[in-house]
Amino acid sequence: MPMTGFGVYRIKPGEDTKQAVLQALKVGYRAIDTAAAYQNEGDVAAAIRESGIPREDLFITSKLWLQDYGEAAAQKEIDRILRVTGLGYFDLYLLHQPLADYYGAWRGLEQAYREGKLRAIGVANFTPGILLDLIMNSDIAPMVDQIELHPFYQQTKNVQWLQAHHVVVESWGPFVNGQNDIFNNPTLTKIATTHDKTVAQIILAWLQQRQIVIIPKSVHDERLRQNLAVEDIELTDAEMAAIKTLDTNHSAFDWNIMDDLNKPEMIKILNDAHVHD
Ligand code: NAP
Repeated sequence: MPMTGFGVYRIKPGEDTKQAVLQALKVGYRAIDTAAAYQNEGDVAAAIRESGIPREDLFITSKLWLQDYGEAAAQKEIDRILRVTGLGYFDLYLLHQPLADYYGAWRGLEQAYREGKLRAIGVANFTPGILLDLIMNSDIAPMVDQIELHPFYQQTKNVQWLQAHHVVVESWGPFVNGQNDIFNNPTLTKIATTHDKTVAQIILAWLQQRQIVIIPKSVHDERLRQNLAVEDIELTDAEMAAIKTLDTNHSAFDWNIMDDLNKPEMIKILNDAHVHD
C-alpha cells in the first residue's frame, strides 16, 4: 500500500473532482481515496481513464456507506459501483462507519475479497475495542483503520494498539481541514523554519515517521506537490516531543463518531443519509 495518497473529500462532484484527480496524477500521486459518501467515485474513475495511466499502477480506495450495510446489500453495492466506474476492482475498500449492520457488511466485504473484487479490506473510524470485537467475530481481520489523526488529536494509544495488531493506520484530516489556525501554529512553524519546509510538510512527515499512511487533500498544484515531497524530512526526538505537547486528546470535529459514540442526533443523521439512488 502506498504511504501517500490523495483524498477527494469535499471536492465538488463532477468536473471539479475529475480535474483535481487529473492534476494529482500528473504531479505523481498514484493512490486515491474516495468514498460512496463523497459522491465522486465516478469522477475519480473518469480522471483515471482520461489520464491513460494503467489501472494496475494505481491504488484506489473507496468506502461503503451505511445505506448499503448488510451482507447482501454490501455485495450488491460493490458490484454496482464496480460496474458504474469500470474500475474492475478496488485496491482497498473500507466500512466508512462502525454503525448499522456492520457485521453483515463486513461479511459482504469478505466475500468480495475472496472473489478478487477487493484486493484489501478494512474499516474507518473504528476504535480498538470495537475493532477487536469485529476481529474476534469474523473470518478475516480488517487490514486498515482510517482514523482522524493530526497534531491536535494524536490518538497515540490507539495507533500503538492498531499497529501492534498488524492493522495499517491511515490518517484522515491531517490538517484538521485547515481549522484551528493549524498552518500558523507556533510550535509547528518553528520546526518548519528549521527544516526550510512548510507546516503542512512537517505534519505529514510527523505522521509518516509514525508509520501512518497519509491522504491529504488539496485542489492547488503547488500544495499537491508540497504534500508529496516529505520523504526526506527527518524530525528529531525533541521535535517529535514538541509536537506531542499539541495533543488535545479529543477530536477536532463534532461529528467524529469515533470520539464519542453516544451522540444520538449524530447517529440519526448518519443513518438517514442516502448517498446514491
Ligand atoms: P485535510 O487533508 O486535513 O485538509 C484539507 C485542507 O487543507 C484543504 O482546505 C486544503 O486546501 C488545505 N491544504 C492542503 N494542503 C495544504 C498545504 N500544503 N498548505 C496549506 N493548505 C493546504 O482534510 P480532509 O480532506 O478532511 O482529509 C483528507 C482526506 O481524508 C479526505 O479528502 C478523505 O479522502 C479522507 N477523509 C476520511 C474521513 C473518514 O471518515 N474516513 C473523514 C474525512 C476525510 P486546498 O484544497 O484549497 O488547497
